[in-house]
Amino acid sequence: MKKVAILGSTGSIGTQTLEVIRSNSAKLRVWSLVAYSNEQKLNSQANEFAPHFTALVSKDGENSLIEAVKGADVAVVATRGITALPAVVYCLKHGIDVALANKEVLVTAGSIVMPLVSRKARILPVDSEHCAISQCLAGKKPDEIAKIILTASGGACYDVTDLTTVTPEIALKHPNWNMGAKITVDSATMVNKAFEVIEASHLFSVPTDKIQVVVHRQSVVHSAVEFVDGSVLMQAAVPDMRLPIQIALLGGHFPSDFKRLNFDEKTSLTFENPDVLRFPCVTFGHDLSHRYPLSATVFNAANDVCVENFLAGKMQFTDFYPTLSKVVDEFEPQYKGTPLTVQNVLDCDKTVKQFTQKLFERCDV
Ligand code: MG
Repeated sequence: MKKVAILGSTGSIGTQTLEVIRSNSAKLRVWSLVAYSNEQKLNSQANEFAPHFTALVSKDGENSLIEAVKGADVAVVATRGITALPAVVYCLKHGIDVALANKEVLVTAGSIVMPLVSRKARILPVDSEHCAISQCLAGKKPDEIAKIILTASGGACYDVTDLTTVTPEIALKHPNWNMGAKITVDSATMVNKAFEVIEASHLFSVPTDKIQVVVHRQSVVHSAVEFVDGSVLMQAAVPDMRLPIQIALLGGHFPSDFKRLNFDEKTSLTFENPDVLRFPCVTFGHDLSHRYPLSATVFNAANDVCVENFLAGKMQFTDFYPTLSKVVDEFEPQYKGTPLTVQNVLDCDKTVKQFTQKLFERCDV
């Protein structure tokens, strides 16, 4: 019986993780549940799954994330932002697998986290693209890989003619995936894909110039790998986050009642280059890898504040790229020589969030 700690249990990934556990109760058991602030939902989850530990980060503090993973076999990390970074480091140092649904931890601190991975404590990707890539790479050697093809749905606004008219309501209507508000906005701006380029680069030790983003509107092919002989392996499935969660927790393909792809119906799958003129944020994934070590932390922190302000109606959709570029440039002189450490990432995150929020208060965006 695998003991599962769930960090971020009341969010979209957290609740879907509990569905997977409910369907696989002979193999998986809830060890601990941590939510940010939704006490009512946490209590009802605790009533059903009877975990040995529960906590609310807003009440009990961020250290409760580390308390929650102690004694677990695997920690599903589905918290927002970088609050779970110390808990991820703790897991990897103490032989606890990390089923990682949060991408900010790898985006900001991939070079710290990846060297801690061992046979005893692995990172199991729960992001659908990265789960797909790991399936394509199973049993392959590094020198067989030519490039990774990271598919992108394009998000909710890909067909909007005038992007200055995009409201939070429009950006939150994702065509294929049902996810939390933050990641749905990131998907609409394609910041999410920039994050995923950096995430894939760390997870699979592939430089970002060997990662190609391809827009695939149907979200059926979750990503692909091209090998040195020209052969391409793709992973496909009906979009459903429970599949990557189940693969991560059970370690392979096991029976499920998830919806199947239907090949009896005529289906078209399309692939095209992303429109980088309309969605320039997608280019950050490749550009930041050539900047200063904390540049991805700055980018992530600034984006967090931008998303909040956009959702509050205080920023235009088309202001994401110029604002993020400005903040990343602004901090270059200050952070140029600063090494990547857990503490520096946490400090930098706070500093940049305050700075970016002030831009909005001064209406400097
Ligand atoms: Mg994804």
